[in-house]
Amino acid sequence: MKNIVPADYQPALPSDRFLVREKPNSDAVPLDVLFVGAGPAGLAGAIELAHLCQKEAQTNPNFQKPEIGILEKAQRLGDHCLSGAVVNPGPLKELFPDLDVKDFPFRRPVEKEAVYFLTEKSHWRLPTPPTMHNKGNYVASLCEIVRWLGQKAEAAGVNILTGFPAESLLIEDDQVLGVRTTPAGLDRDGKPSSRFMPPTDISARFTVLTEGTRGSLSQAYLKWQNLESPSPQIFALGVKEIWQVKKPLDRVIHTMGWPLPTDAFGGSFFYPMTNDQVSLGLVVGLDYKAHALDVHSLLQKLKNHPLIREHLEGGQIQEWGAKTIPEGGYDSFPKRLYGKGLLLAGDTAGFVNVPALKGIHYAMESGRLAARTIFNALKNKSESLEEYQKLIDESFITSDLRRVRNMRHAFKSGFYWGGFKAALMTATCGAFPGGGDKSHSDAQEPRRLDDTPETTAAGPFSTSKVDGVFRAGNATRDDIPKHLVVGQDISPEVAEFYEHVCPAGVYERKGDKLVVNAPNCVDCKATDVLGPRWTPREGGSGPKYQQM
Ligand SMILES: Cc1cc2nc3c(=O)[nH]c(=O)nc-3n(C[C@H](O)[C@H](O)[C@H](O)COP(=O)(O)OP(=O)(O)OC[C@H]3O[C@@H](n4cnc5c(N)ncnc54)[C@H](O)[C@@H]3O)c2cc1C
Repeated sequence: MKNIVPADYQPALPSDRFLVREKPNSDAVPLDVLFVGAGPAGLAGAIELAHLCQKEAQTNPNFQKPEIGILEKAQRLGDHCLSGAVVNPGPLKELFPDLDVKDFPFRRPVEKEAVYFLTEKSHWRLPTPPTMHNKGNYVASLCEIVRWLGQKAEAAGVNILTGFPAESLLIEDDQVLGVRTTPAGLDRDGKPSSRFMPPTDISARFTVLTEGTRGSLSQAYLKWQNLESPSPQIFALGVKEIWQVKKPLDRVIHTMGWPLPTDAFGGSFFYPMTNDQVSLGLVVGLDYKAHALDVHSLLQKLKNHPLIREHLEGGQIQEWGAKTIPEGGYDSFPKRLYGKGLLLAGDTAGFVNVPALKGIHYAMESGRLAARTIFNALKNKSESLEEYQKLIDESFITSDLRRVRNMRHAFKSGFYWGGFKAALMTATCGAFPGGGDKSHSDAQEPRRLDDTPETTAAGPFSTSKVDGVFRAGNATRDDIPKHLVVGQDISPEVAEFYEHVCPAGVYERKGDKLVVNAPNCVDCKATDVLGPRWTPREGGSGPKYQQM
């Protein structure tokens, strides 16, 4: 049987673009602390730091309050954020001890939940695994949480700079000195147009990378400093839709089984946002074996299942989006989470609990711990950020993820055998029987070429990839330079593989050629994991998610 190995066609990470050995220029915006990425990690970190500094300044006249900033590539906060989402409110309560949980931007508490195993026409309820219990958690839109956090950050004096992607870390020797943003207003050939805006340098004593999943600067930094884990980070792709529905959903649902093949790891989530709105998504590990597996198309199939269909009937799709999730867990943590002038927090550090499908509260907690570390360094006039490692090691982030450390990898041996192993691991807190193969990345996983290509199921609920990108609110100019770096000698089979990997129709096999529709890209980073590399593009490009 013929296979392809995606790594053979993947170009090298363009590290020289992400790491620039220059000092910030003389026009640089001077900040003390910079968070790169305004998701839950960056915003929680910036707010915590601002609160700690305000408090200190009240009692310590010698304490100089730092200038704190947060850079975000989206035009508006939350536009590039996408999650399920069922949220553990713990870190939000810590961040705002004076607020009640009813003041938080949640849609509703989780009152009922169920896990089902699906076949094409039927479903069986399974006992909810302990890792998936959601008592005390809330259904929410991450975009809404992020916009609310943005208001709190602004009120606390944080400088929020939206529409500015960080393109490079500025470094001298081992020290990170700040970032350089991506220029705007370039034409298709990369030449300045009448709307040209040059890059901006931002200097910072401390930079916190909170770029989210598959962060480009983080990848380059970890590689440069030799901090990548020996168990490479692995990823899943989640494709999600929000529907207005006539028939209310009364519980949080997770499913396993159909429409996934048994050699792929993943499942669906189906959450009630309000009585007439649901969030439906399918998450599939990017180590699947068939070259023609297509997560977007599988989600379209899933909508025809009787369990889902009865809710969608008479309803209407409102939004569509996609994003990857780091799934390697505890074993894929970077060897060190800090460097000179730099910290890593949230998804970019891999803080996701896969069996629980939770990352938001880990992202927020790591942002808070980064803030505490920086606050202590500022107070003690120290440059050392070593404390962060200890705080993370002693936090619930590490203990939770250690407990489930082998579960995701167990599923490398297939759904049924993996499920059996996962049950044993639950009983032994992750100790027995150990994980599956942790030695290679998703791109190194061979793909079978024998499968019939997956096509988007036609039907009343079906959304095409082009329609999905439209419903993501895609705001990319048609004539910006290509931001995707494609490898050499892409065979027709590899072109077809990319076509199926990408949920947004960026890659198409036309005859024997690969066609790249770069403006369709919604920054999910799936092909950055398996093929062409993603690089930052003009600020404000990409999706404009409303309620994801
Ligand atoms: C389909 C799906 C379902 C999920 N369901 C749940 C759930 O139910 N519950 C849960 O707790 N977790 C869930 N998660 C995981 C959760 O969403 C993440 O763990 C969490 O959002 C991570 O927060 P973060 O701040 O690290 O990153 P993000 O939320 O990804 O935020 C990173 C921000 O950085 C910005 N950025 C990136 N690069 C740059 C750059 N170079 N310059 C400037 N800005 C940049 C991005 O635009 C983004 O706004 C889910 C994830 C997915 C994809």
